Amino acid sequence: MKASVDKELCMGDRNCNILCPEVFKYDEDELMSVVLVDEISEKHKDLVVQAAEECPGGAISVEGA
Ligand code: SF4
Repeated sequence: MKASVDKELCMGDRNCNILCPEVFKYDEDELMSVVLVDEISEKHKDLVVQAAEECPGGAISVEGA
């Protein structure tokens, strides 16, 4: 499974970072969250899907969930 953050839609509330800091990191320069890993590991999949569902901007996309 892969995840990505749409820069235009990220509102910077950092919910994804709090839920799964192993996958999402807040970029202080870009003022948005970025995905740290290419492939989401099995143990983080549920949290990444949850982060996508809860993302207020609808900015997180997941593929291959
Ligand atoms: S939860 Fe969504 S809006 Fe909030 S920081 Fe993460 S990607 Fe951005």
